[in-house]
Amino acid sequence: MLRGLPARTLPQRVVRAATRPLRVLRRRWVAGGAILTYHRVAEPGSSPFGLSVSPNHFEAHLAYLSTRCRVMPLLEMARRLACDDLPPRSVAVTFDDGYVDNLRNARPLLERYEVPGTVFVATGYIGGERAFWWDELATLMLEGAVPAELALPLGDGTRRWPTDTPPARRAAMWAVHGILRDLAPTARESTLDALRRWAGHAPRVDDASRAMTADELRVLVRDDLVDVGGHTVAHAALSALDADARAVEIAAPREVLGRLLARPIEAHAHPYGIDTDDAAELAVRAGYSAACAGGIGSVEAGDDPMRLPRFTVHDCDAGTFRRVVEHHLVD
Ligand SMILES: [Zn+2]
Repeated sequence: MLRGLPARTLPQRVVRAATRPLRVLRRRWVAGGAILTYHRVAEPGSSPFGLSVSPNHFEAHLAYLSTRCRVMPLLEMARRLACDDLPPRSVAVTFDDGYVDNLRNARPLLERYEVPGTVFVATGYIGGERAFWWDELATLMLEGAVPAELALPLGDGTRRWPTDTPPARRAAMWAVHGILRDLAPTARESTLDALRRWAGHAPRVDDASRAMTADELRVLVRDDLVDVGGHTVAHAALSALDADARAVEIAAPREVLGRLLARPIEAHAHPYGIDTDDAAELAVRAGYSAACAGGIGSVEAGDDPMRLPRFTVHDCDAGTFRRVVEHHLVD
């Protein structure tokens, strides 16, 4: 309908309204897919950040995916995108961070439903001797007795939050989470140190919430069902680092995981879904052949395999999951 007309002369809402049905048709009939992001497969109470999907719900998700979608390894999806050969309703399943429940709870269900998966590992946490920083933050701020106020020295001065009630503690935790997320790893660690001093202790790592050890990672990838990829060393906000440090954070996991697991590491995912202009180029230079760095959304033919979009799956029943996946596969 619009062919031959200079689109820039039309009001943008007219252009959007006219092209939207074409985009839906393209998604429905030409090619399309979705990359799902999970973090933990564990009871929802295990994560105050909503990172856990219960094993029961996860099984319901897999039952749906294995019968109604074309599940494939992430690397196969990337290869098929590159040669414009992605079948409709293609889905790849990924897990971020490297939690031990990926091995204990997720892998047996992936086996049962024959659904392949890719686990992105933040290699600085391998071994599980220290908790992921956000889990330690939650333990420090939500559990046990703490002072009535938190005063935290930060780069631009001291910030203060009341911590005298459970809701106040929870609000303070979310505020500090937002600050720590965007700090470079060294600044994040010194702020966590200040929090440990404030709380009066360094919490023990919860065995159910830790990262996998090297031996557990070897069990995880013992066949071709589950693959692993890099997720930086320190679960770093790449935008907080200079170019040299970004290059190290992206490249080092490929070497570390490759050595630990004696296999090539081909995929990478950027933490927090945060991209930088050079992230795709740095992932190519590191030797990866696929990278999840394209923000939130669906994949379709022509997408850059180094900037694949994904979307996060939250704890939800089969009906909600079906609606979310269908939305991403169609529009
Ligand atoms: Zn992550």
